[in-house]
Amino acid sequence: MKNTKSEYKTKTRMMIIEFLKENSDKCFTANDIYLNLTQNGQSINRSTVYRNIEKLCNEGKLVKYKEADSVATVYQYSEGHDHCDRHMHAQCSECGKIFHLESEFVEEFENKIQSCYGIDVDCSKTIIVGKCDDCK
Ligand SMILES: [Zn+2]
Ligand SMILES: [Zn+2]
Repeated sequence: MKNTKSEYKTKTRMMIIEFLKENSDKCFTANDIYLNLTQNGQSINRSTVYRNIEKLCNEGKLVKYKEADSVATVYQYSEGHDHCDRHMHAQCSECGKIFHLESEFVEEFENKIQSCYGIDVDCSKTIIVGKCDDCK
């Protein structure tokens, strides 16, 4: 029975990934994720959920950002996008859709900001807000 603890951790991680994958067009606070996972009577430790979310962010599997009109930090699954901690994102202010700004010129833009203003852009915290094509 010595593996129980790590199996439990892995299971929680899988549940978080599964849940966010199924809802990859939406974003959730850590508390939202916890409540959704426990909805069907599962007993999961809250801090285990939070820790796993943080870990998934560090691995670049989740995008983490603050919503423009809220102080809460929200998370979204980054389908097919690696290293979300290394590029900036844009979010539609209407539908909440996330765009991964992986083009080369965005990186040049970051470098320009660095050389002109001396600011090291923190990609994991930088989000450009605007209206997407669908919402215009
Ligand atoms: Zn991304
Ligand atoms: Zn939109």
